[in-house]
Amino acid sequence: MARYDFLIVGGGIVGAAIAYRLAPHGRVAILEKEAQPGYHATGRSTATFVESYGGQAAHLLTVASRGFLESPPAGFCDGALLARRGNLRFARPGQREQLAQTLAACGQRIPDLAIISQQDALALCPPLRPELVDCALYEPRAADMDVHAIHQGYLRAARAQGADIYTETPLEHIERPTEGNPGRRQDARHWRIHAKDRVIEARWLINAAGAWADNIARLAGVRPLGITPKRRTVVTFTPPAGGAIDHWPLVRDADESFYFKPFGGDILLTPADETPLAPCDAQPEEIDIAIALARMQAATGIAPSHLASRWAGLRSFTRDERPAIGRAADEPYFFWAAGLGGYGIQTSPAIGFMTAHLLADAPLPTAVEADLTALIPDLAPARFS
Ligand SMILES: Cc1cc2nc3c(=O)[nH]c(=O)nc-3n(C[C@H](O)[C@H](O)[C@H](O)COP(=O)(O)OP(=O)(O)OC[C@H]3O[C@@H](n4cnc5c(N)ncnc54)[C@H](O)[C@@H]3O)c2cc1C
Repeated sequence: MARYDFLIVGGGIVGAAIAYRLAPHGRVAILEKEAQPGYHATGRSTATFVESYGGQAAHLLTVASRGFLESPPAGFCDGALLARRGNLRFARPGQREQLAQTLAACGQRIPDLAIISQQDALALCPPLRPELVDCALYEPRAADMDVHAIHQGYLRAARAQGADIYTETPLEHIERPTEGNPGRRQDARHWRIHAKDRVIEARWLINAAGAWADNIARLAGVRPLGITPKRRTVVTFTPPAGGAIDHWPLVRDADESFYFKPFGGDILLTPADETPLAPCDAQPEEIDIAIALARMQAATGIAPSHLASRWAGLRSFTRDERPAIGRAADEPYFFWAAGLGGYGIQTSPAIGFMTAHLLADAPLPTAVEADLTALIPDLAPARFS
């Protein structure tokens, strides 16, 4: 029987980042139910790194992740992980205050984040209808991410440090470590995991199961946190003939009722839908696609006649929309790394740092130590007890 110090459930970006950071500190394994570890949320994102996105916790985690994504260690990947895109969040008349609030909250840590005029916003994305744009918050350092390279980089480096990665191996049953129970077969200090045809023992169980995180808690006899998966739909289409789009930033409105950006010669568009769903292999619905196209046309006049691709994925949220990173309040050897919402890729380096710090006492990078240390109590799952 295999025995590990750290068993991570879920091989998406969060489980992979954690495996990478924990591998130097003990025996690590990932259990992933799919053949491809990026099959669910990780492989369905819109791949954007925006430091002003999400609430304060997402902002600090993203800022703390930039250094790694900009300058990954030698051998981690073949090319750059970030490519400058820019993020233009425009305010309709009467919405300027929303942008001012974001600027006040994030401006200190994001160089060059600024409110720009209508004229400057239209210069960055000419098809926007002037009457809809009062001004915009522009983040020039926002970037497109190479999600595949980041994810594969974590997995490859974890393996190179001795981690085992079991794909097509769904966790199905968990025996809890119960101290002082002489009738138990297993070592009382270890979880015993049944996954497909494997039985695995582990000291620590790390829940990085994305939309399924509450299910894993239930299997372990741990109180679920009330994590809600929400579907988000994406389409891509060919831009109108004659328009040069490659230099456009990612464009969204202040309320995030839709956003779009250039995507490999096409335009990627989402209606920013948030439909609560049970964990599943999410698929796009026609109604959400129609809403996306209508919002694009209303804001820019662009009416796509043919879609190149469409997909949907689940973004999973805790009740306060902050990630849950830390030990379960009711089970000290069960660790939550879940509820990464719409920023799990861009925050994955910081999630890896924090988890290795909390579980293996690994030092936090000096440049971001103060911010991450301050976040630890804010992200602790015990806040839901
Ligand atoms: C449309 C869309 C756009 C997004 N855009 C961005 C963006 O621009 N930037 C950004 O940073 N983030 C973005 N996100 C969010 C990001 O994709 C997620 O936060 C992130 O992928 C979550 O990673 P994860 O590892 O927690 O989840 P997942 O990638 O879903 O991984 C969880 C894994 O657990 C596995 N699992 C579940 N149950 C079991 C079991 N019983 N046994 C074994 N394995 C199990 C699943 O198979 C899955 O592979 C977006 C998401 C969507 C859907």
